Amino acid sequence: MSRFLVKPELPFCKGCGHHLIVRNTVKALEAIGVQPLDVVLVTDIGCHGIVDGNFATHTVHGLHGRSVALGAGMAMALPPHKKVIVYIGDGGATIGLQHILEAARLNVDLTVVVHNNMLYGMTGGQPSGLTPEGFRTVLTPQGYPFPHHDLPRLVHDAGAPFAARVIGLGDFSGVLQQALETEGFSLVEVLEICVSYGVKMNPDLRLKELAQQAGYEPGVWTQPSRPVFRPVPRETRSLLEMEAIPARYTSSLEGRYTLVLGGSAGEGVQQAGELLAQTAIAAGLYATKKGSYPVTVGVGFSTAEVILSRSPIFYHGAT
Ligand code: SF4
Repeated sequence: MSRFLVKPELPFCKGCGHHLIVRNTVKALEAIGVQPLDVVLVTDIGCHGIVDGNFATHTVHGLHGRSVALGAGMAMALPPHKKVIVYIGDGGATIGLQHILEAARLNVDLTVVVHNNMLYGMTGGQPSGLTPEGFRTVLTPQGYPFPHHDLPRLVHDAGAPFAARVIGLGDFSGVLQQALETEGFSLVEVLEICVSYGVKMNPDLRLKELAQQAGYEPGVWTQPSRPVFRPVPRETRSLLEMEAIPARYTSSLEGRYTLVLGGSAGEGVQQAGELLAQTAIAAGLYATKKGSYPVTVGVGFSTAEVILSRSPIFYHGAT
């Protein structure tokens, strides 16, 4: 058994294309020579996601369509030798399409493997944005009426250094290996058919024939890599670690006072409230200021609730 798996029996239906995606991923990981704990596998919602427990890598289960955003955050935070792989279905990929395009545009260092069986398998076979025209699903028994998105070309146009589409039969580990070795964003769309719902609704179709009819052209689209996006770390301090403002004046104020300043946008209500609170702090008092105004900050009402007190304040509102 591969050192990347803790359980060799995969949890998918017999004949499901997800089996081959896992086997080929494992082979590609073996080929690039990483250690299991240097890999983070982020899965999405869908049948593919129940494989988490089989992998000996780190695994994280994301929300539907959001696993690329989750993986991108991890890839940006982890040291460059760590590999982040996102497993996502065609449903999740089109729910979270903007996350994929943004990760490609920024050139985040991660590999997205799209399990495109052309429908939502886990929820009973509904169509997704990658369902090809004419493909029959439970909701479109006469054939899906719209063309599908072309994911590898979309990410290529967004700037991905590596994008590929493979027919999910046999050994396609070489393409996955190329994706994993890419510095920056890579995506591999693997075409497959859900044996439970896709085959039931389209018994006459074979995968290669379906891919050809749908215009799902296998291929690899590359372009020179750009610098990988890694946010510059900022030095931040907790508010609790900040030093108290030293008192420079004395105040004869006793007890607690609540003031409400009111006016129209642009009249300086917020600034007046802040000045009042800062002056009180400089005089050794506790002070808070809470501003209220509509989202249209340049028009409408403006109020500032200011509390001045000798003792700590636990809520910053007047009421
Ligand atoms: S329902 Fe379809 S996608 Fe899900 S495991 Fe079974 S064959 Fe695979």
